[in-house]
Amino acid sequence: MTSLRSFLKGEKVIKVEDRLSPEYEIGKVLLRNQDLPIIFENVSGSEFKVVGNLCSTRDALYRALDTGKEEYNEKVINALENPVSPESAKHGRCFDEKSKSLDDLPILRHFRGDGGKYITATVVVAKDPEYGRNVSVHRLMVLDGGRMAIRLVERHLYMFHQRAEEKGEPLEVAIAIGVHPAVLYAASFSPPEGYDEFGLANSLLDGGLKLAKCETVDLTVPENAEIVIEGRILPRERVDEGPFVDITGTYDIVRKQPVIEVTQISHRKNPYYHALLPGGREHKVFMGMPAETKIYGELKKVVSVKNVCLTNGGCNWLHGAVSIVKKRENDGRKAIHAALAAHKSMKHVVVVDEDIDVFDAEMVEFAIATRFQALKDAVVFPGAKGSSLDPSADKNAITTKLGLDATKPLDRLKDFETANME
Ligand code: MN
Repeated sequence: MTSLRSFLKGEKVIKVEDRLSPEYEIGKVLLRNQDLPIIFENVSGSEFKVVGNLCSTRDALYRALDTGKEEYNEKVINALENPVSPESAKHGRCFDEKSKSLDDLPILRHFRGDGGKYITATVVVAKDPEYGRNVSVHRLMVLDGGRMAIRLVERHLYMFHQRAEEKGEPLEVAIAIGVHPAVLYAASFSPPEGYDEFGLANSLLDGGLKLAKCETVDLTVPENAEIVIEGRILPRERVDEGPFVDITGTYDIVRKQPVIEVTQISHRKNPYYHALLPGGREHKVFMGMPAETKIYGELKKVVSVKNVCLTNGGCNWLHGAVSIVKKRENDGRKAIHAALAAHKSMKHVVVVDEDIDVFDAEMVEFAIATRFQALKDAVVFPGAKGSSLDPSADKNAITTKLGLDATKPLDRLKDFETANME
């Protein structure tokens, strides 16, 4: 029960029989039908099936992690604190068949202004002599049949590549595409350096994840991955990467980024290619939900936190709503400071009482309308480092942040009682 296929078996899916092109056509259908997973049975120019919108709702990801809205954060934090090393597989089904070129894969071209065809649902595995294994998600822009540009945000894989480059060496990578959502979720999480994200994935999957040895690089991948691309990030080589649509739906800029030279492409029999639509709801689920858990974990240290939501209207990245069980008058402010510190990209955060459902935008607005006074309940942070994805921030992502304490004042609780029929 740890494969993409096993997850899909339990889900309602839409099947598209028409032969569609990975150039714009499949992306357009994914964009217009984001409620359910879609399988494209016939893809022009490729033998592979395409699947998208696998987890384009919170509920789908809760199902993938075998949890629910109220238990989700605690479940993930528990798994983070208790990672389980995956066992080795005798045979890797992901190596059963081979492809010669990236051109054999149904890699989508999404939007007209994109820099190229992009692989998006990637689980990139690498190793560093000191830090061990790292598993992370990176967009890959196809350069030709055997080379791709990889976007390395300055986190762990970036550091591994820098360290290899200093020695003049390439960095081996293995890219798994088409894995169980729990694996993609764990790869989307960024625990501290040296933490093996496969241990988190395996803990979330109750110890069922098995890894198989790659054939041209010294790395392991989930044996039931649909597709595996092996290769090396080259030292001292950079190419233009982008433009690319990010979660705000606006274009990320073109940057000089490193190049992967592919050494082997393999796949399961009758493979599925997972296409994650840039700026789509699935993209937001996999980026936003791990961040919610990080915020929850930090809030837990200072207040009695109930739940955290990075809201849909805020691109599941820039706006947060946090509910707390308020015990002391300054808990609202404490929560504002802790939440903004936990997720640096968050620009506005609203803190509400436990009776407000943070996933219900109307209720959150109700709390602001009836429990918030800007002069005493707003906390403004000018000149703060925010998200590079917010087009309203300046070039260096400097922005003004705002916290709204929309909790009821403890000394006037009686004034806030709502009428009921009991
Ligand atoms: Mn990492």
